[in-house]
Amino acid sequence: MAPPRWLADEMLGRLARYLRFVGCDTEYVRGLSDDELLGRAQAEDRTVLSRDRGLARRSPRVFLLKSPAISEQFRAVRRAWPEVPAEPQFVRCTVCNGRLAPYRRGTDRSREAGLPPGGDATTRSLFACDVCGHLYWDGSHTARIRERLRAWSEEPSP
Ligand SMILES: [Zn+2]
Repeated sequence: MAPPRWLADEMLGRLARYLRFVGCDTEYVRGLSDDELLGRAQAEDRTVLSRDRGLARRSPRVFLLKSPAISEQFRAVRRAWPEVPAEPQFVRCTVCNGRLAPYRRGTDRSREAGLPPGGDATTRSLFACDVCGHLYWDGSHTARIRERLRAWSEEPSP
């Protein structure tokens, strides 16, 4: 089965970032009319993620997220698409949805100058976005996100 491709509407920017974090192709758009949103989803063969019931009634291409809570939104997406990982994947840029590729230290000193000195960024593998150039690595910040994703992936106790 082809991996899911999504188009998150402007109420779901946070969810879009987390879905990119777990490696899913998730575009995020703002300021589009409903028609433009549906048109783009159709053209790019994406499922729209939205909290707008009216929009969801208009097209079967819209997946309605009922909860305003990010934890419940993430769970709802994984219930509908069980193949979505709950672990950081380092394949999608959380900023722009570009693809990440392994980055070799020393390739671009000016870019690396922005990395925090010492710690994880200097010892772990780096990944770079091929669109915006943002650098990623697995470190203490990802440990926190990983914990959050794990908590969200467990069903809440009744
Ligand atoms: Zn990027």
